[in-house]
Amino acid sequence: MSEKRDYYEVLGVEKSASADEIKKAYRKMAMKYHPDKNPGDKEAEEKFKEANEAYEVLSDETKRATYDQYGHAGMEGGFGGGGGASYGGFGGGGFEDIFSDIFSSFGGGGGFGGFGGFGGGGGRRGPSRGSDMKININLSFKEAVFGTEKKIKIKRQEECPTCHGSGAEPGSEAHTCDKCGGSGQIYIRQQTPFGTIQQTTVCDKCHGEGEIIDDPCHTCHGSGIQEKERTINIKIPAGVDNGSILPLRGEGNTGARGGGKGDLFVYISVKEDPIFKREEDDVYLEIPVTFAQAALGAELVVPTVDGKVKLKVPEGTQTGKVFRLKGKGVPNVNGRGRGDQYITVRVEVPRKLNKKQKELLRAFDKETGNDNHQEGKKFWSKVKNAFQ
Ligand code: ZN
Repeated sequence: MSEKRDYYEVLGVEKSASADEIKKAYRKMAMKYHPDKNPGDKEAEEKFKEANEAYEVLSDETKRATYDQYGHAGMEGGFGGGGGASYGGFGGGGFEDIFSDIFSSFGGGGGFGGFGGFGGGGGRRGPSRGSDMKININLSFKEAVFGTEKKIKIKRQEECPTCHGSGAEPGSEAHTCDKCGGSGQIYIRQQTPFGTIQQTTVCDKCHGEGEIIDDPCHTCHGSGIQEKERTINIKIPAGVDNGSILPLRGEGNTGARGGGKGDLFVYISVKEDPIFKREEDDVYLEIPVTFAQAALGAELVVPTVDGKVKLKVPEGTQTGKVFRLKGKGVPNVNGRGRGDQYITVRVEVPRKLNKKQKELLRAFDKETGNDNHQEGKKFWSKVKNAFQ
């Protein structure tokens, strides 16, 4: 995954690029590297493919949003987490295609019930997709920075193992509803002051299923689903932040009578760290130094998320000075490198001095005088000029 180039980079656009800019950039690439124009050129062919792939994601608003949040991992199902041994009955893939189509399940489509057939002479309603689920996961600062794995227990509706979701007792069969003829809908005529209105509504005999089960499954009583407690293994990628949401496709509830699976959305909260503050991928830290350390220079040992490192504070460092430790920040959740750590130096003034210390400091002050305090000198001369 890591050798894969960033899609924005592939198209040569900014991350903030508009849909139009992306389209233009893609067209340019496609024209340049089109196989017809570069016969036999393997490199051009690769570039052409790469641009196509990037455009396919970035031109689709929801895919792009997913990519922005999770990078290539979001496109390939990298958050997998093999569900562990208990996944036996789960039709192969399990986590594998979690990301293939994260958002398509919103917005209706066939799966969502509703009166599909208004006027259109529609088909059967069909079983509804199972509902989505939400869970919250609390992470420590470090867990969010470097990623982790969490085992989470959830209760959800799964396919009934006895009838495999059909709702009919094994050996028996469902038959087509005689009231609606299997469409799941019936027409009703209503007399109103404006005339007769014909309306479609859900068949009350089969409840829109189009089928009637004479001999319901003894395990699930005809629903085709059963509540199960599962422990699932959730791989949290490095670089997630407070408020990140991981969508795990197909890990929510299974719908009744063969309805599809809903999704499981993992909401992430990150605890504050007592030392580090984080903003996007950068880490911020303030360290107090003594006046002597700032004036004389010092080699400090400072904490980073990777452990302690040495920081050289040069002679004459002023309070508020910011040092940058490149690449010592948080790994980008999309795999785009790492942020930096910024260290702000604060000179701490002694709060209480004893007699000897005071004497020494007075002597020191007398000795150093104005020449060693350029900013003070400048400032007071400005004040002097202004008030003359
Ligand atoms: Zn059953």
